[in-house]
Formats: sequence, C-alpha cells, structure tokens
Amino acid sequence: MTYIVDPWFTVQELDSKTFAISEYGHWEKVHSFLLLGENQAALIDTGLGIDTIKRITDQLTDLPIIVLTTHVHADHIGSHGDFDTIYVHNDDADWLINGIKGLSLKQIRKDMSRDITIPVPELFDPFTYKPYQGNPDKLLSDGDTIDIGNRILGIFHTPGHSPGHISILDYKTGYLFTGDLLYAETPIYAFYPSTDPVDLVNSLKKIAKIKGVSKIYGGHNQLGLEPKIFDEVLEAVQYLKENKLAKHGTGVHTFKSFSVQF
Ligand SMILES: [Zn+2]
Ligand SMILES: [Zn+2]
Repeated sequence: MTYIVDPWFTVQELDSKTFAISEYGHWEKVHSFLLLGENQAALIDTGLGIDTIKRITDQLTDLPIIVLTTHVHADHIGSHGDFDTIYVHNDDADWLINGIKGLSLKQIRKDMSRDITIPVPELFDPFTYKPYQGNPDKLLSDGDTIDIGNRILGIFHTPGHSPGHISILDYKTGYLFTGDLLYAETPIYAFYPSTDPVDLVNSLKKIAKIKGVSKIYGGHNQLGLEPKIFDEVLEAVQYLKENKLAKHGTGVHTFKSFSVQF
C-alpha cells in the first residue's frame, strides 16, 4: 500500500496502479484520479488548483503524465498548468483556450474560496485566483482509445454538463470515470446557460449501457459507486423523458441515489 500524508490532498489507493486524489477540505469534495500504465500515466482532472496536485503525482510515479480533462470547469483543471501534456474533448477546447464566456471571475473566486474546512496553502489567494487557460496538446473525440502501456482507456463523449464533457472507461479494471455526469449526494448540474439537459439525459443513458463496468468514479462527493446504480439511472432517464422534464428551469429531480438539477 502507498500511504501519502498531505496537508491538502487525501490519497487513496484503489488498486496498486490506480489512485484517487481528493480534496475533502473544500465543499465541492473534488476527486482526481491517477492511472499508471507501463509506459505512461493518465491523470484524470487536476483538481481545484487551491494547491498543486503535482506534489502528489510526483510521489506516486516517475512516468510521463498525460492529463485527461473530463470537462473544462475550474474545479477540474486547477493544476493543468503544472503538466506538459493536456488532452481535452474538441467541444470544450475553446473554453480551455479562452475561458468560459459569461462566467465571471468573481463568481469563480467566490465558489473557490467558500466553505473550506482545513487550512489552505499560503500561496492560495482567492482575490487573484484564475482558472487555467492554455492550448491542449490533443483533441479527443468519442470512441478514441488511449494506450498508456498495457492499459487501454476508452473515451466516451458525454455532453450536457458541458459541451465537451467526457467519461473514461479503463478497460483493464472496468473503472468508469464519469466527471460531473454522474456522482452522488449533491445534484448533478445542468442549469447554467452553457449546459444542455437533453444532452445530459442522453449521456446518462449512454453510460448506463456500457458493459463491463466494475465501479463508477465521479468527480465529487462519495468516492466510488456500484454499477447497480445504472438500473436506477435508466429508470430516471425514462422518467425525465416521459415527463418532459429535461429542460432548463424544471428544478431538482431526486432519485434514490442521485439527483439532477435543470
Ligand atoms: Zn463541472
Ligand atoms: Zn465539478
């Protein structure tokens, strides 16, 4: 077992080659994931950017790291600037390069700095915090596969929460990384103008039909969900479609293990 004690990040070994790197001291309870292959490592998201996640990845691997971006929201791209190789889906690339139009820095800073329950690093200043902007090294599309060395990762385009949101299937372990498409405890958001509730519902249906999933790892809250949640997801999809609820302004829809907000 690998034990890392860190003032900001919580590192949990999911198996000897897969790590969850979590930020439980922040209200968003964000998870990023490091997957080790034989030639490369994949880092799925880079966290809030309140502290640098590279301090953790440096302790876990010497392999070159590819950053796979589930989607371009500030809480998932925080430490992108500390890595050389950034992959993002084509439809979120503009946000990575130019920022999200219509989302103010004031709002981002407010969300980033509120409800923090542990000491933040000295370098974090909520008044100057800026989300990462930069050029991606590779644009991803639905159906792409990435081989990090005897470990193949499949890319599923799952838009709705953002236009270029992706989910990532690790074929070796059956882990499905769902970013902000599916997690528990707090609502999955698709109420901003930049979101699309119909796309989100279709994306939920798409992931619920993926075969061979052993565990689901979302980007927030409880770490790891059992694949039996997919039965519930399919029922929820049917309910939302039948009742024409997949549109902005219909509010929070709560199911047994998860909820969505449109
Ligand atoms: Zn998000
Ligand atoms: Zn998020």
